[in-house]
Amino acid sequence: MMPCSNCSSKAAIVAEKAYCKNHFTAYFENKVLATIKKFSLIGSSDKIIVGSSGGKDSTALLYILSKYYKNVEALAIDEGIPGYRPITLEDLERFCSNNSIPLRIYSYKNEFGFSLSEVLKVRKDLSPCHICGILRRYLLNTKAKGFTRIATGHNMDDEAQSIMMNLSKAQLPLLSRLGPVTGNVTDTGFIPRIKPLYSCSEKEVATYAVIKNFGIRFMQCPYSHSSFRACIRDALNDYEAKHKGSKLNLINNFLKLLPRLKSKQLNLKLNHCSSCGEPCSKDVCKACTIVDSITAKPAAR
Ligand SMILES: [Zn+2]
Ligand SMILES: [Zn+2]
Repeated sequence: MMPCSNCSSKAAIVAEKAYCKNHFTAYFENKVLATIKKFSLIGSSDKIIVGSSGGKDSTALLYILSKYYKNVEALAIDEGIPGYRPITLEDLERFCSNNSIPLRIYSYKNEFGFSLSEVLKVRKDLSPCHICGILRRYLLNTKAKGFTRIATGHNMDDEAQSIMMNLSKAQLPLLSRLGPVTGNVTDTGFIPRIKPLYSCSEKEVATYAVIKNFGIRFMQCPYSHSSFRACIRDALNDYEAKHKGSKLNLINNFLKLLPRLKSKQLNLKLNHCSSCGEPCSKDVCKACTIVDSITAKPAAR
């Protein structure tokens, strides 16, 4: 049995050192608090809304933020994915009620008039992850008005994947929007998004969620296997297994390049969507373009 490096108890995980459950909990929470401090993610007067899915990452984040900060609430989006979302929302509702965290849920169906499954039937040209990337982001931003920070559960693995995805698709503007604080435009309609789990690996977050026993069922979105992200994730995991530390190096080197990437993008003019008024780069935002393409279709005969 490998002992904890801080006490004689049995080690539950080997991260930077070997840790028992209690010492891992302290290590993990300190790492998140240090990340918040290092990147100035949260100020004392901030009102924080956590984009919550009922999964391990956002639930761990919600738990830590509500433990250490005031004015923390949860926001969840129901895309309408049968067999998956109802279970995660049930877990999240129970978790929030047990921890006295206010939770609001918005659905595609109520907000746009259709569920994700219904969009996929009409827009066979779009992948589910692409649609959610646009519509979830849109709802998160419009429904978070009144808050000063949107916190999301993205961990180090997610960020490494996003960097590689945008690099391989040559999406430099999107690349410049990554980092622990996202959004490089100053616009009153844009609420800064923060990623307090930025320095934590997926394995660390999963271990924390298991130790804390949040009562969530660790569901996976049924679409997550088919995505480009899944392909990059597997490649990066393989690379990490053979070359330990490569994900962390990828993130750290990216952070060194980020100020230069951002300064290139700062001069881009920001418009507001002529349909909904949200900040966007073209005349009509991507969310309105998708919504219009669904609602404008004549009923099938
Ligand atoms: Zn210990
Ligand atoms: Zn719009």
